[in-house]
Amino acid sequence: MREYLKFYIDGKWVDPAEPKTAEVINPATEEVSGTISLGSKADVDKAVAAARKAFPGWSATSVKERLDLLKAIQAEYANRQEELGKAVTEEMGAPISLGCGFHTGLGAGHLQTAIEVLENYKFEEQRGPTLIVKEAIGVCGLITPWNWPLNQVTVKMFPALATGNTMVLKPPQLAPYSAQILAEIMDKAGVPAGVFNMVQGKGSEIGTALSRHEDVDMISFTGSEPVGAQIMKDAADTIKRVGLELGGKSAWIVLDDSKLAEHVGGATSNMMVNSGQTCSAGSRLLVPESRLDEAVEVAKQAAQAVTVGDPNGNFAMGPVVSKDQYNTVQDYIRKGLDEGAKLVAGGPGRPAGLEKGWYVQPTVFLGTNDMVIAREEIFGPVLVMIPYKDLDDAVEIANDSMFGLGGYVSGEDVATVNQISRKLRTGAVWINGGFDFHAPFGGYKRSGNGREWGEYGFDEYLEVKSLIGYAEAE
Ligand code: NAD
Repeated sequence: MREYLKFYIDGKWVDPAEPKTAEVINPATEEVSGTISLGSKADVDKAVAAARKAFPGWSATSVKERLDLLKAIQAEYANRQEELGKAVTEEMGAPISLGCGFHTGLGAGHLQTAIEVLENYKFEEQRGPTLIVKEAIGVCGLITPWNWPLNQVTVKMFPALATGNTMVLKPPQLAPYSAQILAEIMDKAGVPAGVFNMVQGKGSEIGTALSRHEDVDMISFTGSEPVGAQIMKDAADTIKRVGLELGGKSAWIVLDDSKLAEHVGGATSNMMVNSGQTCSAGSRLLVPESRLDEAVEVAKQAAQAVTVGDPNGNFAMGPVVSKDQYNTVQDYIRKGLDEGAKLVAGGPGRPAGLEKGWYVQPTVFLGTNDMVIAREEIFGPVLVMIPYKDLDDAVEIANDSMFGLGGYVSGEDVATVNQISRKLRTGAVWINGGFDFHAPFGGYKRSGNGREWGEYGFDEYLEVKSLIGYAEAE
């Protein structure tokens, strides 16, 4: 049983201002796996004050000093990587191979990327008579979701740190363990007091207190669209910068060529990774109408081949994160049936033989783009296949969404896949399975306004100052 009752503020582990706790539930067993403290505005005030006090010193450090610290964190992260992976599995139900694999790998990747970017980043540039200087924005509030808990914290925390900012992290209440271990890593690595602070608790209390805080200069938020909108409203009175990474309903376009079956199979199993709880998941699979029967059969086989079970066993998919999430996903599956989508694989209820734990069947529908299941983010292992007539039709369907986070194009003809990728109105397009830690990540439309990952992730945390008429001193 885990017990994390203290917050990390001003370089120390401290008790909350008022004692209040919440149980954390293991989604695979429905049993309590531990207890955390729930903070209040008083804890946020304390953490923000510590971050404010640390800002002048930390923002004045050299690139070398910040690189040394990032490398010390990297060594400590490597020591605790397996422990982090197990914590992710316990808190949100990812299979242990994923928890100790891609989940922790993403954290390590963002850390290494922050080091690489910092080594080369241009904080100053002379343009004619003007010196353009990029400076840390100040105290940052980092608010993160539970679905890729390490990824979302590290993709914010390391760029913020590398660019000279101080911060207060508010991890998700559903998945608080990996963040707690990350805070221990920061402490052990010697992050100066006040530079990094962490307060656990409810979004409506800690998140709101950060968003409205007079002394917080920026909020970086990853999570759902309604909460993103609320944060913008809460942050409006203090005109703070708000970076939003929100939801998606990304289309995966498979071209009509000899690899169609391979690509449909790959896209289907990809949808089920992390129980479909991925903001950029390709949850609408667009296939050529002329080969619909073949594509449907392949997707059916691929979904049925996804094994579901105990995250500590040898299964491809664990549960979804919570009872609420399970109920939401079940509602969408029922909605899909009600609105006339054809069930290809899976369906309502738990997979056979799993009576306990928030397990969902890997589900595939054949539907149309105007159905609710094709328009709203389900955030579970539910794929909607949609036929297209020709490539113009495929692009039109893909772009007919209020979201614009990601897109996928799979096909053999390079000129065609390139051309389609340019036409998608999304922040990223993955072409034939590409992956890059340095590629900017973020959304068009209702998927947000920020860009994280790599060099663009640094820009989020910097102010731009013009020194006009700046000349070298004699
Ligand atoms: P959520 O919006 O419910 O919560 C996210 C975080 O915000 C949590 O820490 C929560 O406690 C906090 N929060 C809740 N109410 C708040 C408020 N009023 N003010 C401030 N903070 C508040 O999202 P979730 O359910 O944890 O995560 C799932 C969502 O995140 C999905 O929509 C998914 O698409 C999105 N997501 C986006 C990206 C991306 O990079 N674009 C990545 C991962 C997840």
